[in-house]
Amino acid sequence: MSSDTIFTKIINKEIPADIIYEDDQALAFKDINPQAPFHCLIIPKKPIATINDITVEDKSLIGHLYIVAAQLAKEHGFDEQGYRVVMNCNSNGGQTVYHIHLHMLAGKAMGWPPYTEKLKN
Ligand code: AMP
Repeated sequence: MSSDTIFTKIINKEIPADIIYEDDQALAFKDINPQAPFHCLIIPKKPIATINDITVEDKSLIGHLYIVAAQLAKEHGFDEQGYRVVMNCNSNGGQTVYHIHLHMLAGKAMGWPPYTEKLKN
């Protein structure tokens, strides 16, 4: 299932994307529907459907995605002010593309918490 996503097509350059970083393991490109002044997705080239599918073998790959995030933050000048990196999982997490990806959001102060309904009386 995971290898059929739109992100595989972006990795294979079958469809266009605004790619801002690429190496042998990872790719970063601008989100098509940005939710912040700077919103990119950092994805592994290996297709992994959800966080639930990450294995011990993927440890360094997942770490690498965060190294890329930190590098992009520095390059684009928002490392000091800060930014948000988030990975959604399945429907309650808001995942719509089943190839794991870090959302990297920057350029404004982020709201928190993301869940706004009252939990307690
Ligand atoms: P998620 O809902 O966490 O799975 O995030 C999927 C993200 O992929 C959304 O923010 C979409 O806007 C983004 N997206 C979907 N298709 C494309 C595309 N072709 N190029 C760039 N971003 C995309």
